[in-house]
Amino acid sequence: AIPLVVAISTSIGAQNGILVRNRLALEEARLINTVIFDKTGTLTEGRFGVANMQIAEDWQEDHALALALAVEGDSEHPIARGIRQKAEEAGVKPAVISNFEAIKGRGIKATHEGKTVYVGGPRLLEMLELKLSGEMEAFANKANENAQTVVYMIVEKQLVTAFALADVVRQESKQAVQRLHEMGIEVAMLTGDSQHVADAVARELGIDMVFAEVLPEDKDKKVAELQKQGKKVAMVGDGVNDAPALTRADIGIAIGSGTDVAIESAGIILVQSNPLDVVKIFELSRATYRKMI
Ligand code: ADP
Ligand code: MG
Repeated sequence: AIPLVVAISTSIGAQNGILVRNRLALEEARLINTVIFDKTGTLTEGRFGVANMQIAEDWQEDHALALALAVEGDSEHPIARGIRQKAEEAGVKPAVISNFEAIKGRGIKATHEGKTVYVGGPRLLEMLELKLSGEMEAFANKANENAQTVVYMIVEKQLVTAFALADVVRQESKQAVQRLHEMGIEVAMLTGDSQHVADAVARELGIDMVFAEVLPEDKDKKVAELQKQGKKVAMVGDGVNDAPALTRADIGIAIGSGTDVAIESAGIILVQSNPLDVVKIFELSRATYRKMI
């Protein structure tokens, strides 16, 4: 039978937007000394807008947007949504493309008029062994200083456009990190985004450890690394990419607005998508199991 105090705590949790799917997760929560947050969609809103574009000399903005709109047409990634919105605001029609293909953790690929077109971030450039021109590099550095994510469009090995996209840090994220510190809990961030952007966001929030440019299949390995160092780890995430890390962690916490896959992999769900509710989980767990012992 479920002890009464646990049943009561579970229902107090539910009233506060904390859905306990797995009772053991609530019990384990009091022992956690490290919390890893996914960045995009968890610490941030995950709603990107195009703040700036840098276009190669021999390219027109409308042409670049039409092509990017088409290539990003089927992608669910928040970066893709931001680029589509920009193109739609500019009123361009999508170019004709075929052979759409996602490249996990790097970007996407398609064919246009027999040419291969890619859109993606630094790990895509690395895969294609492309270097930034001085102009593009200056653009990327400036964007990164402002914590903006940069992705590139490449047509047949030519880098034709860079997009700087701004996401919004959730208001409650900074306070959540502070409160966790007060509870003696270390805070880490895990992201597929660039090191520069990750560092800028971590600095703003006071985060202790940063793992950036992590490929989707490696996110759970970072959790395991910390566990091997003897840490008790909670992972907080929203994306399909986060699911293995949520499963691997001592407790998995999913953002309610996140993907179904993340929610199904987590022991606890934050209905209000508020990172501050992570703090409430630990308070609730500590209070519940103190009463029982
Ligand atoms: P995260 O959700 O932590 O940002 P992802 O693995 O989804 O990690 O993405 C990692 C990086 O891959 C992104 O920051 C971006 O550079 C690139 N990327 C992924 N999907 C797309 C896409 N549809 N369009 C452009 N870039 C993408
Ligand atoms: Mg995310």
